Amino acid sequence: MNNNIYKCINLAIFIILSSIFYFFISCSPSKEYLIKQNKTAGIDRLHIRVLLKKESGRVLISSKTRMKISEVKSGKILYDGHGKDMYFQSDQVSRPILIESWGSPLNVDKERYRGMIEIHNVVGKLYIINVIRINEYLYGVVPCEIISSWDIESLKAQAVAARTYTYYHLINNKKTIYDLDCSNNFQVYKGFNAEKDATNTAVDETSGKIAIYSGKPILAFFHSTCGGKTMDNNHVWEGEKHDYLKSVSCKFCNDSPYYTWETNLSLYEIRESLSKKYRGVGKITGINFQWKDKRVISAVIRHSKNTIIKLSGNDLRMLFPEKKIKSMHFTAKKTKDGLILSGHGWGHGVGLCQWGAKGMAEKGANYKDILKYYYRGISIMDAGQNDYAGR
Ligand SMILES: [Zn+2]
Repeated sequence: MNNNIYKCINLAIFIILSSIFYFFISCSPSKEYLIKQNKTAGIDRLHIRVLLKKESGRVLISSKTRMKISEVKSGKILYDGHGKDMYFQSDQVSRPILIESWGSPLNVDKERYRGMIEIHNVVGKLYIINVIRINEYLYGVVPCEIISSWDIESLKAQAVAARTYTYYHLINNKKTIYDLDCSNNFQVYKGFNAEKDATNTAVDETSGKIAIYSGKPILAFFHSTCGGKTMDNNHVWEGEKHDYLKSVSCKFCNDSPYYTWETNLSLYEIRESLSKKYRGVGKITGINFQWKDKRVISAVIRHSKNTIIKLSGNDLRMLFPEKKIKSMHFTAKKTKDGLILSGHGWGHGVGLCQWGAKGMAEKGANYKDILKYYYRGISIMDAGQNDYAGR
């Protein structure tokens, strides 16, 4: 009899403990979030904070499944129930709030995002921030940066480059409420709608892998097509020269549609483009380029009354519409009213050449071979084994 009572008590305790355990498991996003917030817990940087937008008007956030809204600091629950359309505007959000969903992505206006959404009111603007695991973030990045039908090893090289770039910015981030934004200021991130099976596989199969030089994650720049040779980083942007971003010859990207190109640049277009950055640009009277490794590294432009504008090759390229001057790897010929540029490649030319990665993969190289070719002297390591995620 006593034995049966003990059995019943044990069963009851088991059920209660199981329920508590289940409760914690079923609420795991909140628990992880709390761990992330606890800086004394150390290095839990599995989540990153991606700014999706700054909104002056209202934002619609919805879910098809359970949805919970709580205050970030106090944890006070404002809503917990069936998913529905929730509108937020700045005069209603006085404290940062966290929105979670279970079993389906959250909709932010027309886009869908894995992970959680945090909303902060910054001087009357709502900052919509996706708090998300690094791999889930990369699911939404890699297909925006590379063509998902390419060989899996080139996709894996891109996934590791994107993960390394992310870690680099996490470590060097000076911002307080978010780590990266979703634009090409960092890496383009379009959330769940952009995901592709092949790029998700590339992220999963390289999970945790990053490229290291001198014990630190590298600044893993990449570009579409180098056109035959990549470029030293310090000849494209001012700043520290990185040995792993040295120029390498590339015989692998000649299938790229951007391998060769030609464009007409009228003096009028040059004047219009310069006027975006400089005041009082007059009639263009002369242009001189300076080349290094076949790429234009600086330009001196004379306009009315012998006034001179001097700028770097990359700054000049960025003044024009995106595909006008595809790269600074070009030669120029004078015409009656401007220049004809005959060029190679697309992009700044630093680091990984994506079409080259495709070409190498098709010749049998794996993702590590590819990364080590374009980033000289690096090693591939598991970020989880090191404290790279800590600040
Ligand atoms: Zn190349």
